[in-house]
Amino acid sequence: MAAPLPPSRPRIPGSGLAKGLAVTLRTMTRKTVTEQYPDVQPDLPPRTRGVIGLFEENCTVCMLCARECPDWCIYIDSHKETVPAATPGGRERSRNVLDRFAIDFSLCMYCGICIEVCPFDALFWSPEFEYAETDIRDLTHERDKLREWMWTVPAPPALDPGAEEPKEIAAARKSAEKLAAQQAPPVTEPHADEQARAAERPTRPQGDSKQQTDQPRPDQPKPDQPKLDEPRPDEPGPDQPRPDQPGPDQGGQG
Ligand code: SF4
Ligand code: SF4
Repeated sequence: MAAPLPPSRPRIPGSGLAKGLAVTLRTMTRKTVTEQYPDVQPDLPPRTRGVIGLFEENCTVCMLCARECPDWCIYIDSHKETVPAATPGGRERSRNVLDRFAIDFSLCMYCGICIEVCPFDALFWSPEFEYAETDIRDLTHERDKLREWMWTVPAPPALDPGAEEPKEIAAARKSAEKLAAQQAPPVTEPHADEQARAAERPTRPQGDSKQQTDQPRPDQPKPDQPKLDEPRPDEPGPDQPRPDQPGPDQGGQG
């Protein structure tokens, strides 16, 4: 047998109205949280799961992401290609070439498993979310569209000042330095006989360098000596006739 219900309290007329007004007043005094979207873009956290971007160069077509996706919404097609041996007598290698990579965002549940399992850092979250479509088929984003999303992926947060340099950055820096060294013009070694001549040249004696530089060299004229290529004051200039030469009006015919 059911227990008897407790006696209901008597209702005060107008108490419901007072409660409602209290809620209204409380909400009116709170700070507004309304976002003026789409006039103002929302300020999203950097790890927002908006859309998935594909960095195709890193993808080795290992198929891990497609196998682990719980919704089976990643479609990958590829073919094998033979790469000739890098060295004579070496072995030919085969590699997978990506033909199609697509994600159906109408099925995706944004769990992020594909991004977590990718061993080659080819998939990234982008905070972009404005890709609604009127046709559900357009929500399957193909390789080119996934690549475009890649450029909207925010930069990773900065490392701690004392952190070790990441392996990828160290490898990229080393290859850039190697490439720069290959492209730089070769430094020419001085010829052997030039080196021998340089070795025979008398070396400047050690001592007060200022005193050495103040002394005139043996082949230098002294300050009070006229220079060899300057005409002496008693010498005629190059366009003046010498005293023993006939003048232009004296002529040489007589
Ligand atoms: S986020 Fe999850 S559901 Fe979406 S594609 Fe990746 S693994 Fe599949
Ligand atoms: S797991 Fe990464 S590397 Fe492998 S197929 Fe997927 S995206 Fe490409």
